[in-house]
Amino acid sequence: MDTSPIPFESASPRLTRAQIRGLPEMRELLILAEHTLQSPLQQAKVDVLDEVHHAGESFPLLAFQFGPDDPSLPTFAIFGGFHGLERIGTQVVMSYLRTLLELTRWDRVTIDMLTTTRLLIVPLVNPVGMYLQRRSNGNNVDLMRNAPVQAEGLSPLHLFGGHRLTPRLPWYRGLDGDPMEMESQAVCNFVRREIFPSKVALSIDVHSGYGTFDRLWFPFAKNRQPLPDLPEAIALKHLLDKVHPNHIYCVEPQSRQYLAHGDVWDYLYDEYRAFQPEGHFIPFTLEMGSWLWVKKNWIQIFSSLGMFNPRLPHRVKRTLRRHLFLFDLFHRAVRSPEPWQGLDTDERERLMRLGLDLWYAKP
Ligand SMILES: [Zn+2]
Repeated sequence: MDTSPIPFESASPRLTRAQIRGLPEMRELLILAEHTLQSPLQQAKVDVLDEVHHAGESFPLLAFQFGPDDPSLPTFAIFGGFHGLERIGTQVVMSYLRTLLELTRWDRVTIDMLTTTRLLIVPLVNPVGMYLQRRSNGNNVDLMRNAPVQAEGLSPLHLFGGHRLTPRLPWYRGLDGDPMEMESQAVCNFVRREIFPSKVALSIDVHSGYGTFDRLWFPFAKNRQPLPDLPEAIALKHLLDKVHPNHIYCVEPQSRQYLAHGDVWDYLYDEYRAFQPEGHFIPFTLEMGSWLWVKKNWIQIFSSLGMFNPRLPHRVKRTLRRHLFLFDLFHRAVRSPEPWQGLDTDERERLMRLGLDLWYAKP
């Protein structure tokens, strides 16, 4: 069921004191929502996609939208906070939102870009998880293992890839046959409504907690098959390599690192292709390499949040500014998609072979 979003003005969510203490990100988001409504940009709005209820309290799922109200336009979307322990992901997304709000006040380039493209930002998908300081949502379900997608050849012992054993263990997928959790459904409905009508779309979902450097993943997590949009993905990588030759990302399919059940981006990618066969929507995941933060400040290992977030102030600041250029480049890439989306048959074949050699060659 598609729950219609409510404009932020009429919803006016109010936080309880406990929420303000336990979830400073939500307080910040409400301030940013007010700023968005006051933006001189004509077409800026905030919707409440749904309200998540937990222990008598209510948490809004906020979606910020910039640009014309026409979902067939080129679209770039940013998501954060699927996993409640990964606070830094939401903070990175908010950092970009803050920059964007300032730019829309005076920067003609940004304002002009937003007359022909759309920018969608959902900074906190799992507010209850973040409030409770846990990876999963209020029902103990891991929202990135919750979509109806079964990974191929994944051992049941590999709990990290998602399991149905017990909600007491992390990475719990929910019961077989149950509908998706409401946060997951809200994201799916939002993407179907606001991204599927577009033939040119990119998204980045920000996470942390894996590896020692920053990775930029594209599907699949469910198997090691090449993405049908592999030529477009590698053309985007080339854009990134050329425009920012000193960038810090390892670009690769997620399956190069691990397989997982229930990845919502695998699910939405396949659905989009059935809906819009001529279009290109590539959902990326930015996995920030948190082990480096731990390595440099090992005492963090003793806190539940420490494995997923930088703690020292200079490292937090560095992380908050580190990815702004990436979001900007992806926005430009949907505004000017020819280098990655307008490939002729020969170039697609060449890039497909290159991508297969680079990422899918048999060991
Ligand atoms: Zn995560």
